[in-house]
Amino acid sequence: MSDLTIPRTNVFFAFSPELKPVARIQQGQVVTLETHDCFEGQLKSSADLLDKLDWDHVNPATGPVFIDGAKPGDVLRVDLLSMEIGDQSIMVTLPGEGALGDMISDMETTVLKREGNEVVFKDKIRVSQKPMIGVIGVAPAAGAVPNGTPGPHGGNMDCTLVTQGASLYFTVGVEGALFGAGDFHAAMGDGEIVVCGAETPGQFSFSARVIPELKGLPTPFLRNENVVATIFSSPTLDAAASGAIHAMAEFLTKQVGLSVNDAGMLMSLVGELKFCQVVDPEKTVRFEFPIQVLEQYHYDMQ
Ligand code: CA
Ligand code: ZN
Repeated sequence: MSDLTIPRTNVFFAFSPELKPVARIQQGQVVTLETHDCFEGQLKSSADLLDKLDWDHVNPATGPVFIDGAKPGDVLRVDLLSMEIGDQSIMVTLPGEGALGDMISDMETTVLKREGNEVVFKDKIRVSQKPMIGVIGVAPAAGAVPNGTPGPHGGNMDCTLVTQGASLYFTVGVEGALFGAGDFHAAMGDGEIVVCGAETPGQFSFSARVIPELKGLPTPFLRNENVVATIFSSPTLDAAASGAIHAMAEFLTKQVGLSVNDAGMLMSLVGELKFCQVVDPEKTVRFEFPIQVLEQYHYDMQ
């Protein structure tokens, strides 16, 4: 059970060391964050088009939260314990934007209702709900990174694995880490082709703790019950892919203790390189590796 709830009125728009924490929490404490959708609730119906949007209120994250004892250079594990999403979500198109911007000539807003475990597109097409968190991270050591941009600190990674049951690992940039999150999707496909998923408000509960044994882990890093994954963002997909691949090789050699050749051959045999999003100024790619193989090396991810 969560013993502290941070309301969605506590928003920020850039991860920065200058942010004032809205709460101070203990390691291991269960905390709930409520979040706005990525438009801060500005779009409510199909009549609300993007030309009305106040772009200063896009990609709000809730927080930041100061985690007691988290010091620069520490690896912080954030366990995503539970997640709820709103009853409706919003999708939009904008000419010129996203991976199909050259083909899209009409601005559109569409509302998707949630029915049970499904999301309904245009009142008839049913798809499975797959809730995920788009923006999640910690403050960088220096500078301010707008919430729309992913990077080594996390941010707008739009990784479909960031959901209930996953653990995320970040390298702490400033004392207390200054953790926050927002931009929930009721569902989203890998790639995020028109720069949105089913954008929805929601809430999630988490606990966070420093894992000393993992110091030096290439971050952002994720584990769920099936895979570990490295997540890497860069202006080009080539560089993002190379970054995610090299980060996984670094994990397998330094943390798990494999030789470079074994790591490379196993990555080639059972690893999976996937796109998170291909539409932001920094593209995000992840490399997944099965835990079932790590277990055969007697490696237990903390
Ligand atoms: Ca996003
Ligand atoms: Zn989003």
